[in-house]
Amino acid sequence: MATAGTQSALLSFAEARQCVEEYASHLSPAEPETVSLLDATGLVLAEDLHADRDFPPFPRSTRDGYAVRSTDVAAPPARLRLIGEIKAGAGLQQSGITIGAGEAAEIMTGAPVPAGADAVVMVEYTGRSGGLVTVQRPVGAGENIVVAGSEANRGSLMVPRGTRVNHTTVAVAAAVGRAELAVYRRPKVAILATGDELVDINLPPGANEIRNSNSYSLAAQVAAAGGEPVILPVAPDVAEELALLLRKGLEADVLLVTGGVSAGKYDLVEQVMASFEARFLFTGARIQPGKPVVFGEAILHDKTTPFVGLPGNPVSTMVTFQLFARPLLDGLSGATAQPLPFAKAELNSPFTTRTGLTRFLPARLGGNGAQPQVELVPWQGSGDLMAVSRSNCYLVVPPEQERFAAGELVTVLMF
Ligand code: AMP
Ligand code: MG
Repeated sequence: MATAGTQSALLSFAEARQCVEEYASHLSPAEPETVSLLDATGLVLAEDLHADRDFPPFPRSTRDGYAVRSTDVAAPPARLRLIGEIKAGAGLQQSGITIGAGEAAEIMTGAPVPAGADAVVMVEYTGRSGGLVTVQRPVGAGENIVVAGSEANRGSLMVPRGTRVNHTTVAVAAAVGRAELAVYRRPKVAILATGDELVDINLPPGANEIRNSNSYSLAAQVAAAGGEPVILPVAPDVAEELALLLRKGLEADVLLVTGGVSAGKYDLVEQVMASFEARFLFTGARIQPGKPVVFGEAILHDKTTPFVGLPGNPVSTMVTFQLFARPLLDGLSGATAQPLPFAKAELNSPFTTRTGLTRFLPARLGGNGAQPQVELVPWQGSGDLMAVSRSNCYLVVPPEQERFAAGELVTVLMF
């Protein structure tokens, strides 16, 4: 592989995202492991999940009422003879009932509809005296019944390999009787914060020092993305010490570095990386926050490891993780590629901005009813982690747009 050094490549947001997605599509996950169903949430399925029976396994009543023949109640009121009761979980004796002409059986939600019946009348439309039930409304054939096998047939694919397990996947796994699932091992994600001003959270900061928050916010984002965060000691802005820690970080499946990627005199990450066998795919993206973001791969001891250099301002770090590091975690987890969670919302108040960059401005999505509303959260720029903590999304400003009117439909990126 060619060593490209630190040649500068400033891409548009779309180009940079495309570059990372393309790279991620060639990554492969670690070997699978088996975990219990309750531990599988957030991990990626290493196997297909199939239906072990028909769903539903029997014709299921969706209402409390009476199982009838629809032709018997076509001209209400109809008086039918009650021949039994079928509850959910009915034993064979109950479910063995057959409804003949002029007959009905009381039935509960989730119970098997008996032979002979082709509809269930809701209890609200009936009256009862002794062994007779009066049906006051007609009911169509099939009404209030879910046909056996209509949701899924035995053997059919329910959830494919590569799906990230969420509560819906867990429901399917439980329904098909899987107490354990094969998932891919979480990728190890090294997190290296750089900067002479940084102090860890268990130490008192000096007057001109600040606490290292990025290692922790990144660890949270990594864990939420199904990775295993490995936080390295903070690196000072000194080339030799930085090199040692970068080498350590390259032992992981992916390395995230924060800080030290801008154009300042002590921004050494690119320079030190380039002293290894490294290839830079881009060294900046026309976005704000996060413009100095760097993406590449390094080879150490015959192992190729992707790395992302995230600008150190806390909001820049968060945004660039979501935009450019997250796809790598998906690839290394065996997950099928996920699009960014964009949505449309109505802007509450007008604002103007400068053109030229794709901006991701901290914002709050709210409103009730059909139309989501979004408002900008006032902030002091990309260092303002307090402002982003009051946000739940970013308002996405395309590079060519300068003015935004109240009531305009805008794009938001959910966290
Ligand atoms: P840099 O990208 O190194 O130029 O840093 C940009 C800004 O982010 C500076 O104000 C840094 O003090 C701040 N910063 C860098 N790293 C961190 C970190 N790990 N936690 C909190 N703030 C940081
Ligand atoms: Mg720095």
